[in-house]
Amino acid sequence: MAEERITIPEAEKLSNPKNTIAVVQGHSFTFRKNFGQNFLIDSHVIDKIVAAAEITEEDEVLEIGPGIGTLTQYLAEAAGHVTAVEIDKNLIPILGETLAPYHNIDVVNQDVLKVDFQELFGDKSFKCVANLPYYITTPIIMELLEKKINAKSITVMVQKEVAERMKAGPGTKDYGALSLAVQYYAEPYIAAYVPQNCFIPRPNVGSAVIRLTRLEKPAVDVKDEKLMFQVIRAAFNQRRKTLSNAVKNFSGFTNKEHGISREQIEGALTNVGFDVRVRGEALTLAEFAAVTDALTDLGIHA
Ligand code: SAM
Repeated sequence: MAEERITIPEAEKLSNPKNTIAVVQGHSFTFRKNFGQNFLIDSHVIDKIVAAAEITEEDEVLEIGPGIGTLTQYLAEAAGHVTAVEIDKNLIPILGETLAPYHNIDVVNQDVLKVDFQELFGDKSFKCVANLPYYITTPIIMELLEKKINAKSITVMVQKEVAERMKAGPGTKDYGALSLAVQYYAEPYIAAYVPQNCFIPRPNVGSAVIRLTRLEKPAVDVKDEKLMFQVIRAAFNQRRKTLSNAVKNFSGFTNKEHGISREQIEGALTNVGFDVRVRGEALTLAEFAAVTDALTDLGIHA
């Protein structure tokens, strides 16, 4: 059931740069670059994040890195309940003040990469929303997608180039292992591009808000999922080479004694109707799955 929700006037929110500066200076807070601390100071951008995440008062929300609570204020007003995980202990007393009016937020002082989501949410489903610290973008997104937890969607601010890689399709320069891993589990949608002046301090890179909506089941059926991701890693490890050469040279297969020989990968490609000179960057996810199944049928496993 939705808990009691409060609304505070826009002018008093932290999205108003004056209020953010007052809080930061009032607490003599120093930004930590190694924690990726760039706080939002633009209410339009925050409105776009909350709208893209399609938050309703029925929703349980996981916020990663609340900072001083800027996005958290909006999430608390839209959602049923928010669990905000923040690594920086210096921010915890500040959050105690800035979020004091709200009764539907739990702040957890922990590294999100070490959080036991099962312990936090049990079997309840949740939506993840965050202005992510960019240094943990890929590990946290893959953790949320791969784990058998109930993250319905992930709506996050990330570096612009990373959003484009997640969304990219075959034959484009941004297409790679990250595109395929994300698109195996989720449908990506870029909701907004966000300029540097929407943050304090200004980051050195452009940003984008991307929503990943988890699919009911993975986008393709494959007999050996682990082997498919190893073939994908091999393909993009040497993206200028043919898939056969890239796979033959790749040392990251779990099945190290055997690896995959040229005959085996060429046999698999021929069996599914590909030219043996095809490059991995031309293959769709479904085609990687088909090549992997052909390898499995030849007796190869991860
Ligand atoms: N949500 C705030 C906003 O939009 O203004 C702050 C976003 S800032 C880009 C990233 C936040 O994530 C910082 O507060 C930082 O301390 C926190 N953070 C960094 N690494 C973290 C980790 N491993 N686990 C949890 N929080 C982390």
